[in-house]
Formats: sequence, C-alpha cells, structure tokens
Amino acid sequence: MTDFHYMADPSGVATLIWDQPDTAMNVLTFEALDALSTHLERALADDAIKGIIVTSAKKDFAGGMDLRVLGALRASSGAEPAKGIFEGLMKMHGVLRRLERAGADPKTGKGGKPVAWASPGTAAGIGLEIALACHRRFVADAPRARLGLPEIKVGLFPGAGGTMRVSRMLGLMASAPILLEGKMMKPAEALDFGLIDEVSEPEALLETARAWVLSAKPDELIKPWDRKGWKMPGGAPYTAPGFPTFVGAAAMVHGRTQGVYPAARALLSAIYEGALVPFDTALRIEARHFTAVMLNPSSEAMIRSLFLSKQALEKGALRPEGVADRKVSRLGVIGAGMMGAGIAQVAAAAGIDVVLLDRDGQAAEAGRAGIAKRLGASVERGRLAPEARDAALARITAGADMGLLAGADLVIEAVFEDPGVKAPVISAAEALLGAEATFATNTSTLPVSGLARASARPENFIGIHFFSPVDRMMLVEIIRGKETGDAAVARALDFVRQIGKTPIVVNDARFFYANRCIIPYINEGVSLVAEGVSPALVEHAATGMGMPLGPLQLVDETSIDLAARIARATSAAGEGHAPGAADAVIFTLEGEGRLGRKAKAGFYAYDDAGKRTGLWPGLAGHWPPAPEQPGVEEVRQRLILIQVLEALRALEEGVLTDVRAGDVGAILGWGFMPWSGGPFSWVDMTGPGRVLELAEDLAARCGPRFAPPELLREMAASNRRFYPGSGQRAAA
Ligand code: NAD
Repeated sequence: MTDFHYMADPSGVATLIWDQPDTAMNVLTFEALDALSTHLERALADDAIKGIIVTSAKKDFAGGMDLRVLGALRASSGAEPAKGIFEGLMKMHGVLRRLERAGADPKTGKGGKPVAWASPGTAAGIGLEIALACHRRFVADAPRARLGLPEIKVGLFPGAGGTMRVSRMLGLMASAPILLEGKMMKPAEALDFGLIDEVSEPEALLETARAWVLSAKPDELIKPWDRKGWKMPGGAPYTAPGFPTFVGAAAMVHGRTQGVYPAARALLSAIYEGALVPFDTALRIEARHFTAVMLNPSSEAMIRSLFLSKQALEKGALRPEGVADRKVSRLGVIGAGMMGAGIAQVAAAAGIDVVLLDRDGQAAEAGRAGIAKRLGASVERGRLAPEARDAALARITAGADMGLLAGADLVIEAVFEDPGVKAPVISAAEALLGAEATFATNTSTLPVSGLARASARPENFIGIHFFSPVDRMMLVEIIRGKETGDAAVARALDFVRQIGKTPIVVNDARFFYANRCIIPYINEGVSLVAEGVSPALVEHAATGMGMPLGPLQLVDETSIDLAARIARATSAAGEGHAPGAADAVIFTLEGEGRLGRKAKAGFYAYDDAGKRTGLWPGLAGHWPPAPEQPGVEEVRQRLILIQVLEALRALEEGVLTDVRAGDVGAILGWGFMPWSGGPFSWVDMTGPGRVLELAEDLAARCGPRFAPPELLREMAASNRRFYPGSGQRAAA
C-alpha cells in the first residue's frame, strides 16, 4: 500500500498524498484505490482529524485509470465478465461515495468532515473523478496543467461517477464538451465551467486548501444532489426546459457519431436515466452502462488501438534494438511549400532549430510567413502562448543557400514530386552533411529505394512521410528502403517522438501503407457512381459506418487532378492495374476542370467562398443513377472490404510488419472507422471466416480486386485472430 501516503498535522488536517512508485504520473489501479480507502477510513475514524486534503506528491495529480487494469478486470472475471466489471465499478463508487459523504449521516447530511482536493497540475479521467467527489477543488496555476475527462476518446465514458456528478453539477448541455467531447481544459477554463472552485498559486496550493478545510461550514459539505428537493440544472428530462434539451442532445450525438460509437450512446442513456432517480441509484445505472460498453468489442478494440498500441508505437515498439537515442538539434527542410513549411513548423514548435530552404529566398520566406500566420492563429485561439510562437519562429532560418544545411542531424526534402527534381537535391544536400546525418524524403508516391539511388549513402537514406495538414495529422509513416540501415530508422523514430507524433514503420512498396489503402477506397466510391449508384448513397453509406469523409468528398479534398495523375502513373507502372470505371470518371471531371475543392467544383458543388453546397447535380447527367439502387449494406461492404483487403495484403507482403501499426496507422492516417480499432481489429471482431465469405462473394460479383489474400484464407481455416484472445465475441 504505497500508492497513497498519510500525513496528519497538529492542526488536525490529514493529507492523503498520492505517489505511485516508479512512475512520473499517477494512474489508478485497484491497489491504489484500496490504499485511498484505507487512509480515508483512518482519517474518518480519528476524532483528532477535522478534515482531509487529497493531493499528489508529483507535479500532476493523475493521468487517469490504468487502462490495462480495465482489460485485466474483464479478463479475470472468467465466465461472468459483466458481474466482475460491475462489481469492480461499484467498489470504486463505494470508495468515492464514502469520500463525498466523509462520515456524514446520510439522512441529515450532518457530521461529515470537509474534504479538499488540491491538485498541483493535470488531472484526467479518474483523477478528476476523485476530485468531483471532494467538497472543494483547488488547482495550482501550473502552465501545463490540464483537467478533463477524455474517456470518450478511447471508446469509454467516465465510469467512476464522473458522468453522474458532472451532469448533475452543470446540466446536460453545459456538460457536453466535458463528457461527450472529452475536452481537456486549463485550470482557468475549468473554473469558468464550474468544475473546480479555485485556481491557486502553486506555492500556496496546500496552505489555501488547509485554510479552507479548517474554516469550512457544514453547509459546504453537502453536495447539491444530496439535498432535499435537488433539481437538475437546465432541467431533468420530463420538465419543460429539460425535454427539448434531452431530445436535441440525442439528435446531436447521433448526428456526430452516426450511432456507431457505443460509448456515446451509453453515456447519454446513463445521464438521461440517472437524472430520473436518486444519486445512489444513478451510480448503479452508470455502472451498468459502463459494464455494457466495456463488454462491447468496439470499446476493447478502441482501447487497444487508440491507447495501448498507439502508446507502444510512440514509445518505440518498432525501434531497432541496440541503437542509442539521438536527438535532432538541427533540422534541414528543403522545399518550403505546403508540406515543407508544415514540417518546419512542428519541428520548431518542438524546440528544434530549423533551416528551411527553397529555390530562392523569396519562396523560403513565403514558407516562413505561412508558419507565422498559422502560429498567430493558434495564439488568437488561445492555444499557444505568444512567447512560444516567437520562440518557434526564432528557431527557423529561411533561405536558398544549401550551405546552411551544414551541421544538420537530419534533412527532410519536400520538393516537387518528381525524381528529376529530387535527385540533384539529394546529392547536393548530402555532400554538405556529416557522416552521421540522416537524409529523408517526404515523397508520397515515389519508391524510397528508387530515390536512394541518388544517394551516396543509402544506409542513411529513409522515407519520413507526413500527412497533410502536417500540424494536425498525428501519423508519420517511416519508410525503410531496401538499403536503409537500423540507425536511420532509429533516428527517424527519435525525431517523430521529439515532435510528439505517432510513428509507424513500413517497408518500401508502391504507396507505402496509408495511401495504398486510401486510393482503393476512393476508387471504389467513384466506381459505384460509374455503375449508377446514387452519389448520395455512396457518401452516406461511408459516413454512416464511421468514415470521417465519404470517398467523393475525400477525392474533392485531395484534388481530382492528383487522382488523375495517380491513375496515369499506376497504369504506366503496369503491376496488373486495369484502368477501370473509376479512372474514366476522374478523367471526365478533370477534363471539365472540376478539380475538387480548390477549384470550387468537383463531385460536390461549392459556393463562392468555397463552402460545399451539396453533391453536384451534374453528376446525374454523366452517370445517371440506376432505377434499382443497392442496399446501404451492400455499398458499405464494398467500401469496407476494399480497404481491409488492401491492409491485409500490405501485411502479407511484408510492407507492414506489425498489426498494431496497421490499425493505428489506419485510424490516424485516413480515419478508418475508429470504433472498429482499425482494419485488423475489424477482421478479429467480424471473424475471419465471415470476412472471407464477404470477400469471396464480392470477388465473384465485382471482380478480382476483392480476391481474398491467402493470409485471410489461412486465418479463416484456423479461426485465428490477429490479437489472440480478443474479438471472440461477435461484433454488435
Ligand atoms: P508544394 O508544391 O507545395 O511545395 C514544393 C516546394 O518545393 C515549392 O515551394 C518549390 O518551390 C520547392 N522546390 C521545388 N524544387 C526545389 C529545389 N530544387 N530546391 C528547393 N526547393 C524546391 O508541394 P507539397 O505539397 O508541399 O509536396 C512536397 C512533397 O511532399 C512531395 O514530394 C509530395 O509528394 C509530398 N507529400 C505531399 C503531401 C500533400 O498532401 N500535398 C502529403 C505527403 C507528402
């Protein structure tokens, strides 16, 4: 029981100090909960103790629940997982409820001891849920402190009373950003929301809390929901103000999530049902919904990919062993266009000195000016301190003189996508670099091993593929060329970690991994239109299954001319590509100058300001919708399978070497149905036998692009899973 320490002072205040051994950040385990409970009972039983402070010895209060514990809870509950999870949750409710009552008589609410929460910094998830059970919440005004309940982002919802307490404190509408969006807030913002009571100078935190504990009035120790006649702020479901709020919220949540995220729906149901009953019953309701979410294969898959696998990749799961860590202190970026400037921006923001080069000084300066503009916009939105912007800009030297690259540890080229332009850039830059420096290309379509021919040291040559917009897209694909050495892979991974993004490592093959799967998704959507399927059906089928963009909107965003160029290049490369119906559609739109969003015309129509106004009615003239339309499930199966089969082929061919990278890369790279945990998790969840059946059926009806890879046949035959022990329950 070393997670919490107990300290009583002569004034009669007991301080429960959370200090989990061997970690920088506290995360809750059941052992820690037991320790908290034991110390709490001790403080409540001791007449000399007048009140309690709950705090942390670390610079933050807590990062949340150890999600591995949740997984273990489920796994260890044997034949009755629901019972095990439910009881685990009720135990947590019991401890926090005891903290909240703090010894008061449940009938009169009298006789409790004051409990203050004093956080030196960040409190996320269960960390904040503990706080919500305390009577008064103090947070130090630490610049990096963030408060919030981010559970929804990994397919859960706050299940330690946070859902019930926040919705009862703030009402449904005001709690939406906290519960439904998982918004993390600075202390001042949390104060505005009413989540905490005081922001204090860091040095004065404990003293302020102690002063409150010693002077707290009995009335301050009773939570609003434990008072007679409590009414939900903003109205309970069956009141005049509450009714439209609840109906509207249900519609809004469904609109945003398309009903594919079990946690969002369960969260809303829990709030709705909980609002109708006394608090202790509401906590049981919360626990029941949380249990159901935990047992949903989607939440298991989301936790695995979006939390466990993502974190493992960020910590270097794919990093070659035996290569020492090397930080990049000076980065060269060649090409100050959209991608180059984006890369320079994120690197400078992470504290790296950057040389940003282009063909002439003017172009390089224009790149730097773009960075200044974007950082300025972040300052205006309150996301970045003005000093941080100034410091980042001061780290960027823009110019046209290759000589500036001297001393760089890493150079990334982002010049035009043309081997004839890239090759001389590669050899000129390399000539100026030290023997240890790494050269990377940001190419998205050219084989890295081919470009490496221009390099005198191909072992130090690698692909570091960013996605657009660089500052927002979290995935970086690291591409190992045929001759790329381990040291270059390690350096690229260390750099990606430095800039706070998530890396996957893939082997060199046409379009690497993400684009390899996105292109067939777009082509399948376009082919459906060519076959006479209504474009609206295609788009809705895609977004309704949880893709962020339908294939037609996606190709408008990335541009029709790019799609046309890729189609031509793919044809020229041979590789068995038969120009299909999709290519013809793309070439037609290209020929009409409907180049997508940038031209304010594409599959969609746009107004003068460039805002989409709807699908372009002219599509029906070119590709008239057939009188008989397929069912939405048929369209969905085509759109899912075309991506999943490509991901399986990438694994089978050794482009991917790790399914975690395939799942995380798919979600972060192109938004593959996050509720599924990624294409490999989706196969596990659906069952390889069923996936094989779907693929064979589609291959027979639509063509060999759906032909199942051998890997799928083998998995179906042996009923094997990518993540052994998971996904055995059928998908909902
Ligand atoms: P861009 O046209 O916006 O920028 C290219 C820049 O390179 C221009 O500023 C140009 O002046 C400069 N340049 C050209 N030749 C040069 C030379 N010899 N020396 C120095 N500078 C030179 O292009 P972009 O969209 O930023 O793409 C750049 C690279 O990134 C390409 O390889 C592209 O495939 C890749 N990429 C693009 C995306 C995307 O979404 N646009 C995504 C991933 C990767």
